[in-house]
Amino acid sequence: MSTFDITAIRSNFPALQQQVYGKPLVYLDNAATTQKPQCVVRAIDEMNAKINANIHRAVHYLAVQCTERYEQARETIRRFINADKPQEIIFTAGTTAAINLLAFSFGERFVRNGDEIIVTEAEHHSNIVPWQLLCERKGATLKILPVDDTGRLQTEKLPEILTGKTRILCVTQVSNVLGVVNPVKTIIQLAHAHHVPVLIDGAQGIVHEDVDVQALDCDFYVFSGHKLYGPTGIGVLYGKEKWLEQLPPYQSGGDMIASVSFTKTTFAGLPLKFEAGTANYIGAHGLATAINYLQSIGSAAARAYEQQLTAYAVEALSTIGGLQIYGAAAPKTSVLSFSINGVHPSDAAAILDKLGIAVRTGRLCADTLMQRFRLQGMIRASLAFYNTKEEIDALVNGLRQVQKMMH
Ligand code: PMP
Repeated sequence: MSTFDITAIRSNFPALQQQVYGKPLVYLDNAATTQKPQCVVRAIDEMNAKINANIHRAVHYLAVQCTERYEQARETIRRFINADKPQEIIFTAGTTAAINLLAFSFGERFVRNGDEIIVTEAEHHSNIVPWQLLCERKGATLKILPVDDTGRLQTEKLPEILTGKTRILCVTQVSNVLGVVNPVKTIIQLAHAHHVPVLIDGAQGIVHEDVDVQALDCDFYVFSGHKLYGPTGIGVLYGKEKWLEQLPPYQSGGDMIASVSFTKTTFAGLPLKFEAGTANYIGAHGLATAINYLQSIGSAAARAYEQQLTAYAVEALSTIGGLQIYGAAAPKTSVLSFSINGVHPSDAAAILDKLGIAVRTGRLCADTLMQRFRLQGMIRASLAFYNTKEEIDALVNGLRQVQKMMH
């Protein structure tokens, strides 16, 4: 293992110090949500306890403090993903909320009867269903870019799927099931050659990759705070200004208007046009605190450690008879989904739980991938940089116990 000081890192996370059922918690459900470092917990607590007032409106001390923190958080995120302008960063409640915003607004402006929208077979439900509903509303067609047996996106099929009717292409950077890093830069170049804008679902990608939206040249990029060691209820829609300027508002109400009369409302400029109502300024500050934390521990070192741990886990899991990991295509992140012959995922999860081991099982919000691999469900162990080899050993021992009990 690298010199990454795992003991010091773990001590930053209060949730990791606890026991469940009298056993040390082994938390391997990080693709669903990550635990929060103490500094994030403290930042949220401090705002809830003291630095709390609604933003962008009043001029009193607390309101100014909160507004500054909110806009500072926008700037932290702009820098983190290297967006060109702060107004290209829209705060949302999370990835799902960001995609729904885009599917509605983009759909209203650009999608007509007979048009086509491309998603991939590797998407989370939240990057399928909003587009499917849009297609139903508009009489458009949803087209699918498939994955192969190793979980690799069949990008070579894109030229035949992209047509003059394609309005947008939506692809996940990293699948929450397969953990495979998709070649999004190549996909973006191919789509742009057909003048098709691209949305990247970065919910998993931003956790495992350095993201530079300008270098990628993606038109939209979305992610959630809670998977990035930040709070729940906050996320981001990045959009190129030239696109966001053209889109109509999604939700409407306070803070997103320039003026209102009973005959006509005019809207605020970016980013507030897309941030109706009281924003989650505490969540935004919490997310910025998480990003600062990640940068302070060194994201390169954390990733290198995570990669070593993943290699160790893949090796250890492969010693279990009848276990098959899905998504062998490289490059692969620390999301490991598998099945074990003769073991129902829910049984495995229930037994592992009693051993203090938290994994995710079932369809993993990816029914289409389950259909692709002809499975009712999978078991998913998703690792973070705060996990250890000992925890992987505990998982493997736990799975052996599951096998013994099931056979
Ligand atoms: N896309 C991917 C790839 C995800 O992993 C998830 C969460 N599992 C989502 C979208 C949805 O994120 P959220 O529930 O935070 O909106």
